[in-house]
Amino acid sequence: MFETIRKVLKSVREYKIFAIITPLFMIGEAAVECALPFVMSLFVDTIEEVQSIGELVPWFIIIIAMTIFSIVCGILGGRFASFASCGFAKNLRNDLYKKVESFSFENIDHFHASSLVTRMTTDVNNAQMSFAMVVRIVIRAPLMLIFSAVMAFVTGGNMAWIFVAAIPAIGIIFFIIAKFAMDIFRRVFKRYDAMNESVQENVAGMRVVKSFVREGYEDEKFSTTSSNLSKDFIKAEKIVALMTPAMNTTIHVVYLITMFVAGELIFNTASAVMDPESGAYKYTFQDLSVSQMSALLTYGIQILMAIMMISMVVTTLILSLESIRRIAEVLDEEPTIQNPENPVMEVADGSVIFDHVSFKYKKEAERFAVSDLDFTIKSGEFIGIIGSTGSGKSTLVNLISRLYDTTTGHVLVSGHDVKEYDLKTLRDSVAVVLQKNFLFSGTVRSNMQWGDPDASDEEILRAIEIAQIPDVIHHYAEGLDHAVEQGGANFSGGQKQRLCIARAILKKPKILILDDSTSAVDTKTDRLIRNSLKNDLPSMTKIVIAQRISSIEDADQIIVLDNGQINAIGTHEQLLKTNEIYHEVYQSQTQKGGN
Ligand code: ADP
Ligand code: MG
Repeated sequence: MFETIRKVLKSVREYKIFAIITPLFMIGEAAVECALPFVMSLFVDTIEEVQSIGELVPWFIIIIAMTIFSIVCGILGGRFASFASCGFAKNLRNDLYKKVESFSFENIDHFHASSLVTRMTTDVNNAQMSFAMVVRIVIRAPLMLIFSAVMAFVTGGNMAWIFVAAIPAIGIIFFIIAKFAMDIFRRVFKRYDAMNESVQENVAGMRVVKSFVREGYEDEKFSTTSSNLSKDFIKAEKIVALMTPAMNTTIHVVYLITMFVAGELIFNTASAVMDPESGAYKYTFQDLSVSQMSALLTYGIQILMAIMMISMVVTTLILSLESIRRIAEVLDEEPTIQNPENPVMEVADGSVIFDHVSFKYKKEAERFAVSDLDFTIKSGEFIGIIGSTGSGKSTLVNLISRLYDTTTGHVLVSGHDVKEYDLKTLRDSVAVVLQKNFLFSGTVRSNMQWGDPDASDEEILRAIEIAQIPDVIHHYAEGLDHAVEQGGANFSGGQKQRLCIARAILKKPKILILDDSTSAVDTKTDRLIRNSLKNDLPSMTKIVIAQRISSIEDADQIIVLDNGQINAIGTHEQLLKTNEIYHEVYQSQTQKGGN
């Protein structure tokens, strides 16, 4: 547990100085606050003896100076505490972000994206809050407790035992309340995670929700989650709300007892002497004076307050431990895919070899997503991959750009195992147009420049031509400056796919992978894209995953995947003659009118 906290605390870094000076100011504040009641009681005693108000001026100055000192310490302490905690949170968020950026797909699968978001926001906030509290109170409260207790004994003698007796009482009340509240708070955090996940999913999938007219259902689901959350919160808050009255009652009881005992003591031991001149009585106290009693009561309250603060810090800490644990979990995660030590910095050509490759997404999974893949692709070839959904097509191509590492076997690109390459070099040379493609908000040009930041307009237009969308771009008055909305929402599916292909071409990759990325493009345009890829970029290896046989029939080799395994490899003519699956798919597609 301490190891976890230490790990997270490493992010304090340059803000450490603030975390150290805050308690110093808090000590100043606490020292003065403890000395003040004592000085006040001396002051009250002096009042009885002075002849003129002028004699009291030094007292005023001392008391005002002490008060100002305490206030200044308090303000500075609070300010440095926020510097420290905000800086800590900033660093922690940055550290988390950097870590997540280094994650492979496997790491992200492990956490789920939405949980990573919660960890970087809510959990960091919790850590920040408890950090601020700790630097402010962790030294101050125990010091207050010790100072006040000592001073209580100094002023009140044995009377101070009353407070000592009250300490466990308060502690017990607090911990019982905190224990109940904490259990509920833990549950609340879990529900929060679930709610975040569902909000994220819904907002991301808003179009689908709307198109299936599922708003009502989703609304209901959300409001159930939300009202469960609020019920739990109310329950927890109700318990927490008991805290103040319970504390107040205890304090008042202690007050009453002190007053009663003190009153008795004063009454029994004081003696009155008549002043013969004025005839007035003058009191002398033996064991306890009235001014001492009032100081004693103040110390009593300070002791109880200190206990309350300590308990509060402990509760906050325990509550945020869960958050801290979740943050540390992310920081502790080792990126499963890392750069090798002496990486190969150049991909010479676009040849690919799969050498008995098997892969499963999770170590504990029973089933391999792909198994015993074994084939060779020559540089510049056009390869088609076909197979039903879930047969492992996307998995196969993800292994080429090392989005995942193979479980057994090797993937070689240009003669080297992909694990030997510098990751950036490899991924620059292998361009993948994903099934779920993505455009960023900006302009057509800014999106194209994701492929190559220095691409000239000619190069961009060239790529756009190969991807067969010049008509679309020319149609817009702004041309390349035409706006792209978030997620490319203002383009049709087919247009988006073609823009993504153009973007990938701009990377000038050695290997271009199209993962079902012409599915929304009509058959004729699809053929035009393939022809221009073949003719204009002959040295680039092209791997095309497709549902339609027409998209891959002129490939040099076609790989038929079935259930994660290679069912057959061959040309269109060979497969049509010899492979049952291929034949069947071909027939079904031609009968439906060349779908
Ligand atoms: P295809 O692209 O041919 O439709 P995939 O390669 O996407 O198929 O999937 C192959 C198998 O791997 C499927 O059984 C799928 O459920 C599983 N799979 C795909 N992605 C993941 C993932 N991120 N985590 C766990 N299993 C996955
Ligand atoms: Mg797929």
